[in-house]
Amino acid sequence: MTEEHIKGGKTIWDRLRETVQSDSVFHAYIVEGQNDAEKLLMAKNFVKAILCEEASGQPCEDCISCRKMNHDNHEDVIYIAKEGSSIKDEVVADMQSRLRKKPFAGERNIAIIENADTMTPKAQNRLLKTLEEPLGKNIIILLTENAGNLTQTINSRCILYRLPMNSAKPMTESLNEQYHLMEFAKGLAEKRSLYLHSKDLKEIGLKRETALEVLDVLENWFRDMLMLSYDASPIELVNTDRKSTLLLESRLYQKADMVNIIKSIEEAKDEMHKNINVSYALKSMLLKIQEDRNGKSSRNQI
Ligand SMILES: [Zn+2]
Repeated sequence: MTEEHIKGGKTIWDRLRETVQSDSVFHAYIVEGQNDAEKLLMAKNFVKAILCEEASGQPCEDCISCRKMNHDNHEDVIYIAKEGSSIKDEVVADMQSRLRKKPFAGERNIAIIENADTMTPKAQNRLLKTLEEPLGKNIIILLTENAGNLTQTINSRCILYRLPMNSAKPMTESLNEQYHLMEFAKGLAEKRSLYLHSKDLKEIGLKRETALEVLDVLENWFRDMLMLSYDASPIELVNTDRKSTLLLESRLYQKADMVNIIKSIEEAKDEMHKNINVSYALKSMLLKIQEDRNGKSSRNQI
């Protein structure tokens, strides 16, 4: 399993970090994704990394610049959001005049435009001028649900990053509550009998879509725990809000255990995609995990 593999949907952040590290930040980006909070978090962390005084490629969280970013009061960062149902021409004009001013703290001004696809056609046209003639080291980041809603010319002037679809949090929460997934994962960790969970497992096995969603949630948890055992920073996690719980849980496992569990989950997902009976795939996944956990078999032996 390669590192890339373990990180799953996290490669966007890797790419952004490399961009900062190599000092090759472009002047305009589009971040496309379904979850507004997630897009904003991604943009803020990218900006934080760019402006960080340590300039290591990721935010140090400790310098004045990082602290200002964490309090949303960095003088060189402009936030634009829709008012009512759209972002109007005047708002973009105002943003442009702020971008033209000399930055207060650093060497560049940065604008983050939320719901960029709600810009009126006039506002999009105005923005285009700034994208065509970027000023100094200024950066503009457009957040949108669908880059296709922005004009072709805007798209052609920006680097596009798509956030993975499966990282929306609300689903994780509801599945966790419905099927006691956190408890279930704990059961795996503590090598408990999974008999207590048989009712949940039976329900999960009834529908292919539910089973695949549940496996995604579990896989993300185990990936996060594995990442934490490698001292990953919170931004690299899917479940950033569960960091402390996951950190505690990760201590119950050897790294090899987590890798094996992730492998077993992925195999079960593959089987489900191949139309193999869902509850059969789930059962065989659990069997594999338990065998691995009890050291009864080695996956490299047949
Ligand atoms: Zn910093």
